[in-house]
Amino acid sequence: MRAKAACFACTMCQLRRGFCYPFPTYSKQYYSIKTGKIKSIRHLPNLDISRIRNIGIMAHIDAGKTTTTERMLYNAGYTRSMGDVDDGDTVTDFMAQERERGITIQSAAVTFHWHDHRINLIDTPGHVDFTMEVERSLRVLDGAVTIFDASAGVEAQTLTVWRQADNYDIPRICFLNKMDKPTASFELSVENIKEKLDVKPIILQLPIGTGKEFRGVVDLVSMDVLTWRGNDGSVYEHQDANAEIVGDLWAEVQKARSALVEQLADMDDGFAEQVLAGHGDKLADVSPDKLRAAVRKVTLARAGVPLLCGSSLKNCGVQPLLDAVVDFLPAPNERQHNFLQWYGNDPVALAFKVCHDQQRGPLVFLRLYGGALSAHSSIFNVSRNCTERLSRLLLGFADQHVEIPQVTAGNIAIAVGLKKTVTGDTLVASKKSAIAASQRTREANTPPNEGSHEAGDIEVILPVLAGVDVPEPVFFCTVEPPSAAKQKNLDHALACLQREDPSLKVHLDPESGQTVLSGMGELHIEIIQDRIRREYGIEAYLGPLQVAYRETTTRPGCTTVSLERHQAEMLHSVSVELFIQPQPGAGPVCISWAPSEGPVPRPEIMESVQSGIESGASQGPILGYPVQDVHVCVQSITVNPSTSLAILSACTVQCLHKALLETGGQILEPLMMLEILVPEEHLSFVLADLAQRRGSVLSIHARRYGQVVSASVPLADMMGYSTTLRTLTSGTASFSLEPSGYKSMSPLEQRKLIQERKGP
Ligand code: GDP
Ligand code: MG
Repeated sequence: MRAKAACFACTMCQLRRGFCYPFPTYSKQYYSIKTGKIKSIRHLPNLDISRIRNIGIMAHIDAGKTTTTERMLYNAGYTRSMGDVDDGDTVTDFMAQERERGITIQSAAVTFHWHDHRINLIDTPGHVDFTMEVERSLRVLDGAVTIFDASAGVEAQTLTVWRQADNYDIPRICFLNKMDKPTASFELSVENIKEKLDVKPIILQLPIGTGKEFRGVVDLVSMDVLTWRGNDGSVYEHQDANAEIVGDLWAEVQKARSALVEQLADMDDGFAEQVLAGHGDKLADVSPDKLRAAVRKVTLARAGVPLLCGSSLKNCGVQPLLDAVVDFLPAPNERQHNFLQWYGNDPVALAFKVCHDQQRGPLVFLRLYGGALSAHSSIFNVSRNCTERLSRLLLGFADQHVEIPQVTAGNIAIAVGLKKTVTGDTLVASKKSAIAASQRTREANTPPNEGSHEAGDIEVILPVLAGVDVPEPVFFCTVEPPSAAKQKNLDHALACLQREDPSLKVHLDPESGQTVLSGMGELHIEIIQDRIRREYGIEAYLGPLQVAYRETTTRPGCTTVSLERHQAEMLHSVSVELFIQPQPGAGPVCISWAPSEGPVPRPEIMESVQSGIESGASQGPILGYPVQDVHVCVQSITVNPSTSLAILSACTVQCLHKALLETGGQILEPLMMLEILVPEEHLSFVLADLAQRRGSVLSIHARRYGQVVSASVPLADMMGYSTTLRTLTSGTASFSLEPSGYKSMSPLEQRKLIQERKGP
């Protein structure tokens, strides 16, 4: 092991290389041009939009995203040595928790240059608890590199993020990493990608050797052999591919090259015509430039996905991957953004991430779609309808930042000074600009004979960019400060953390008066607790982790509740009749009003009934869990004129709860999709354990390196699974989890749960 020295930027910490958390004041020294080798990020060239690539790196945990990002920065000349996840010294995993655990928690943005192009790259987390981080990054990316572990093929979380990227229509490149592993298989991985992701991979390289023998690739576009030398893979040799150099692989190379040309001709008619006109039968002679242009076209149209391979750990194949990012992934102006037309040349940006810096306050990550934003200016937050002061603009280099005077369309930058902006907000130059855009939208959508509205005479609907869907949390627990005096500090910490992470929810339990945290999983909540301790200096106490159950109904039914109360010498009498029915998959309760022959109730009465239903549904009658998948239809309301609205609302809550109990009173529990990769010899232990966890095994597939078990397991039985699996299989198995909806509990299970919670 190499000796550890102090961090380059300061002498305070013990990091061997890189920078201490959160933002060392001396960062500029580190980037001193005097060192000769490291590029100065203070002298960034201003590039045309066509030379920008906003890309994400996504994959299952441990596929090698962070390692690949490290190698990209190294090859592009931005770091002096290659960081290693296992040593905890990578540039992008800069949070203390990330370095300790060797996993990515926050998505980090880094900017670097490659062949006169600026690449804004986001390294995203792979763990299911942090899916939200992936989702909000995807919202602002133009392209993505998906990394696969060539010895494991398409793993569960890759499938999830792949589907997420489909929703945002993002062109992608596939990189088969870890070709140096003895169990790596190029062919099996390609087959697996075709089958599981239902895409057409465009094979651009063939590996030379696998496992320990892996030493290079044949580039099927340029027909060059690339071999890597030296310890750090920074030197690689180009040779023309021919039978002598390639040896046994030559026939396969020729076949693959022809297959590539044919495949592209099938996918792109223009290319097919060009090829047939120019080359007739000799399809293999098509020039590399023409091939590259066709691959680019097909990738942008999402008809196919270029596929490359290598070993990031050994820095083999990362340079051609960067070439492919520049060659095949879209520039920001090649993506369709319909809303841009309403803003003309005015700036319009989306805030896709907020993080808190102790010195600078909230840092808001912005993707600028149109126009330009300058530092020291004011901007208008359309989503919150407020003007904010943008004091400084920074360019992110993981935990390092460089100040820039202006940011132009297509770029990603960090804004300092925005106090109210949260993830998902749209920012524009001014309120005037937003209103003008709103009017343009309305004019375009109003038929010509309906006349135009005067500005301000109707509610102005300001056009905002679609935000990010926030997943429903599945776990919750209470959180308490170490002493009552610290409650205020804890509230502040939670408010900051919530602004950074929309998948974290915080609410006050009205019954117990306790603060309740809800999150995406055990790890998510554990990391939040850790951050409260480290970043805000509060030893918060967390109650036991509980599963977020839901309540619903199983059959339709109608119920009436009448109340009569004497209060302040007045008689309050009210009667509410509700009809409820199950609506599977509908999510939160839907409310409707039955048509009635009498007069329409006053708006405040309708509001009071509506709020009664909503509050009754937020805490169901069985165990107080939120009610879902239920349709409530208000049949009738009878009130005397003096009845208070609070009593009407309380009566509605009672009526809803009575109706729910009378029509089945069913508890739903969250289910998880579990995929386990386990060596044959440990399979039986894993299956026996699953049976005890109420899991149902959906399939068991043999793969070269073991068995893949897919199962559906209630979340409540998955607590501490990683430790159990490690013990059962001596650490040889790996697994991934993904939420897969809710299922009704059986009467027996439900009775057990109620007994547990309420006592016998
Ligand atoms: P991430 O979770 O996708 O960010 O993956 P990491 O970059 O953290 O890598 C996970 C583990 O795989 C680490 O132990 C890396 O050293 C290892 N790893 C990454 N790339 C390679 C590779 O090309 N070959 C081998 N053998 N291991 C790799
Ligand atoms: Mg990582």
